[in-house]
Amino acid sequence: MTYHRILLKLSGEALMGQQQYGIDADRLMQYASEIKAVATQGIQVAVVIGGGNIFRGVQAEHFGLDRVQGDYMGMLATVINSMALQSALEKMDVPTRLLSGLTIQRVCEPYIRRRAMRHLEKGRVVIFGAGIGSPYFTTDSAASLRAIEIEADVVLKGTRVDGIYSADPEKDPTAVRYPRISFDEVMEKNLNVMDMTAFTLCKENNLPIIVFDMNTPGNLERLIAGENLGTLVTM
Ligand code: UDP
Repeated sequence: MTYHRILLKLSGEALMGQQQYGIDADRLMQYASEIKAVATQGIQVAVVIGGGNIFRGVQAEHFGLDRVQGDYMGMLATVINSMALQSALEKMDVPTRLLSGLTIQRVCEPYIRRRAMRHLEKGRVVIFGAGIGSPYFTTDSAASLRAIEIEADVVLKGTRVDGIYSADPEKDPTAVRYPRISFDEVMEKNLNVMDMTAFTLCKENNLPIIVFDMNTPGNLERLIAGENLGTLVTM
């Protein structure tokens, strides 16, 4: 596969590094330099980053709070992470724009599809903050939706695991990694790639997903160069 425009999904949790909460500076800088390495090759890069290192909507219910309120808190958490990533990229002289699904006028641009496309054409890294801007969704769904909207070639889901396995590799030593798998097989085998909404969006719009280990430095570049890393999900 050759790539012209990619959507990279990073989990908020991965940003914690070894910490229990918040943003680990080294991890943030590592992600920014990985993104810079592919953006400077002329690949158009859009990024969606989660908020799990700060807040998730379901936590609100555990506290006895309102779920919808919690989801908005989660969306704001993704904006904090997006701002950190934007700043890290700018420190590395990478032009970046943050477009948010919730309007936060002083801090970032509102998400407007045409504007996102224009930024990408101009070689700016585009970060989509605040997910879709609606409760009861996840940033995986936002990644799939935005990728389809901007006509990305692929969703690259950067995780701490190096692909999709037949079972949880952290619990089952007999688990094997699939280098490639179809959408239907993922469903038949009930494998956990993304939440169902996000996964179905990709399936119905024939948008390939690659799950790969983002924490090994250089992996994003290797993937773009065509190395067979992680697991490719296609029709
Ligand atoms: N969220 C939401 N709508 C969206 C995206 C995110 O309500 O479109 C909320 C939801 O509460 C979610 C939180 O933001 O739990 C943080 O996002 P997510 O859990 O996807 O982050 P990740 O697991 O990738 O760190």
